[in-house]
Order: sequence, then C-alpha cells, then structure tokens
Amino acid sequence: HYRCRSAFKLLEIDDRLHILRPGLSVLDCGAAPGAWSQVAVERVNALGTDPAAPTGFVIGVDLLRISPLEGAVFLSQADITDPSTQRAIQNLLPAEKVDVILSDMAPNATGIKELDHQKLISLCLDLVNLSQSILKPKGTILCKFWDGHESRVLQNKLKEQFQDVRTIKPQASRKDSSESYYLARLYKGK
Ligand code: SAM
Repeated sequence: HYRCRSAFKLLEIDDRLHILRPGLSVLDCGAAPGAWSQVAVERVNALGTDPAAPTGFVIGVDLLRISPLEGAVFLSQADITDPSTQRAIQNLLPAEKVDVILSDMAPNATGIKELDHQKLISLCLDLVNLSQSILKPKGTILCKFWDGHESRVLQNKLKEQFQDVRTIKPQASRKDSSESYYLARLYKGK
C-alpha cells in the first residue's frame, strides 16, 4: 500500500536504528509522492491509531505536488531552501520545532555524477543550517546523499552539530551504488 518503493528504505533503517516512535513530530523533506510520510504517519502514530500511545505529527514538503495523505500535512510546490517555506512550516507545526528531520531529497539528476553529487551535498548543507530554527535539541536528521568528494564536508558539519553521526547504506538502495544516508542524532542545539 505504499506509494513508492522508497518506503522500504525507511522501514529498513527505522527497524534497525529506531528513529521514529509514537508522539514524535517529523519534517519529511522531498516528500513526494509520499511513501516516507506514510511510514512516518504509522510509526509516530500521527492518526492516533493506537489510543494508548502518544500522537505524533508529520509535515511533508516537496517542489512537486503531493497527493493528500491522512495524518500528514503537506506543503506542495515548495522549495525547502526558500525562507518563505521555512516560515510556512513553522506556522503549521504544533510546537515550535520537530524531533526528526527526514530528507530523501534529490535534485534533478543531470547524469554528470560529480555535479549531481555536489548539488545534493549543498542541499543537505542547507538542511543542516535549517536545523537551527526547526530541530529540537537532541533531535535527529536522516539525509540521503550521493557519495563523492564532498561527502566529508557534510559529514564534518554534522559531526560538529550532532553527538552521533553514522553512515547507512540500506539493502533496499543497493541498485544505486552511490546512494547512502547520514543519520545524525543528538543535535547539540543552539
Ligand atoms: N521519500 C519520497 C517517498 O518515499 O515518496 C521520495 C522522494 S524523491 C526520491 C526526491 C524528492 O525530492 C523529489 O520529489 C523532489 O521534487 C524533491 N526535492 C528536490 N529538491 C527539493 C527542494 N529544494 N525542496 C523540496 N523538495 C525537493
């Protein structure tokens, strides 16, 4: 019932590393078509399906249109790096900040590996900067990147700002050999 096979990557990562749990609030960046948000809605109990557990919150953002999903709030046709999007997110959040930022974002690939790599790293760096205003202290970021020369720049920046940073290569993304994720936990906050 997932909108896209990418759901299995998040399920696999979350089964292993437990980043989502009932009651957490999640920002899903690059959410279209919405499969990661579907997983997040289930795992944070955003619909209150389990009445005994706390209810979470999911907001998804994408440049593209995202079809509505019960339990999630979507900002479609919105660029996460645009300050007006950031304000819109903050207006929609139940609290000031989120517990988890997920990013499966990918720029339109040019096919030039080095260029695509750089574009995605710079998008991830923008996201880390956004944490300051949107991520709770002790919060988590999971972000996709395409491996290459500048991965270290992103990894170092995450290490400055999070206590625990690891690289994850899900089984489900084996076919795309350069795709990996950084999982950064325990945001030092500001
Ligand atoms: N995780 C999604 C799912 O499971 O349905 C799939 C995400 S898809 C691989 C990557 C998405 O990132 C694309 O839909 C693209 O439009 C979006 N994206 C790329 N740059 C973005 C940006 N600056 N702001 C918001 N979304 C962006």
